[in-house]
Amino acid sequence: MTMFSRAGSITPRESVSLLPAYSAGKPPQPADGLTPYKLSSNENPLGPVPAVTQALAEIDTLHRYPNPTAEGLRTGLAGLLEVPVEDIVAGTGSLGALTQIINAFAGSNSDGSQDEVIYAWRSFEAYPIVVRTAGARDVTVPVMADGRHDLEAMLAAITERTKVILLCTPNNPTGPALSHSEVEDFLAKAPSDVVVVLDEAYQEFVRSDDRLDALSLYRTHPNVVVLRTFSKAHGLAALRVGYSIASQQITQHLRVVAAPFGVSTLAEAAALASLEHLDQVHERVDSLVAERGRVSAALHQAGWTIPESQGNFVWLPLGERSQDFAAQAGVQALAVRAFAGEGVRVTIGEVEANDRFIELCRTYRFRD
Ligand SMILES: *Cc1c(COP(=O)(O)O)cnc(C)c1O
Repeated sequence: MTMFSRAGSITPRESVSLLPAYSAGKPPQPADGLTPYKLSSNENPLGPVPAVTQALAEIDTLHRYPNPTAEGLRTGLAGLLEVPVEDIVAGTGSLGALTQIINAFAGSNSDGSQDEVIYAWRSFEAYPIVVRTAGARDVTVPVMADGRHDLEAMLAAITERTKVILLCTPNNPTGPALSHSEVEDFLAKAPSDVVVVLDEAYQEFVRSDDRLDALSLYRTHPNVVVLRTFSKAHGLAALRVGYSIASQQITQHLRVVAAPFGVSTLAEAAALASLEHLDQVHERVDSLVAERGRVSAALHQAGWTIPESQGNFVWLPLGERSQDFAAQAGVQALAVRAFAGEGVRVTIGEVEANDRFIELCRTYRFRD
């Protein structure tokens, strides 16, 4: 029996119906005689260190729930980074850790107002989804022509409703990293009750002068959250494990909203095994950084102007030609990530994949 008339279809919350769908990097399409390569998701082509595979094989507790807060991993990280265990909160990827931060600090309020979250754009595609799903309002500040955050404009965008600011360094997809002095200066000017997240998904790849020391800023600023992941440098994207580091003024609230058992037993063991072999992880990262240097130099030589990349990817600001470039890469069995009308992000991959990408850039002509 119907008590009152209904719309007749199942509809989600208004904020959800307006969300952009996350568009994941596509797999490459095979082409005659060419090994296909996926350069569309900033994955580590070298994979995890061998000890990870061994640690996974030894797990005999698949019928048990994992530790609810990934305590073993947090303890390992605490020792390594010299921070209290209580200052670390693990998550299902750093995306899970970021979701905790937004859910804890930004949303909509009982008076109908919406909290604001400021971030640069274009930046990580997941930001609008996480922010809007929480019921908060996203305030985007365009990156500058060289792909860098416009920190002055981001400071100017702060209002009474601003609860969180996301700084993505290096910025995905444009590539540049923020310097330590830039972030220090930003924190000095931002209100101390605004949570400032330093998304360091690619921090292991940074080789710039005045490199950001995010942990030192977390030690002096109770409003700073450092966000890190095992998906990129450690090559563990499939296992979904990341974490945040912040003062207990912040982490006490993250623990409340964190999904229990968010980090699986496998993810925790793999992350710990990788941390125990950091020298091997760094060797792999070094070789990808060398490849990034080789690709960047070859592109410059071929006449391309691209932003300085400090991540494991490069950004081609192709504007209206972006989809055409991606299509031509596809013919060469290379999957790349096109953002229509803006540019193309290409992950630094296997040497052969990078060679093929360089060759494509050397010979590329726009086909109308
Ligand atoms: C890849 C990425 C992440 C996180 O990925 P997880 O796999 O969820 O850890 C976070 N931020 C940025 C900017 C990224 O590019």
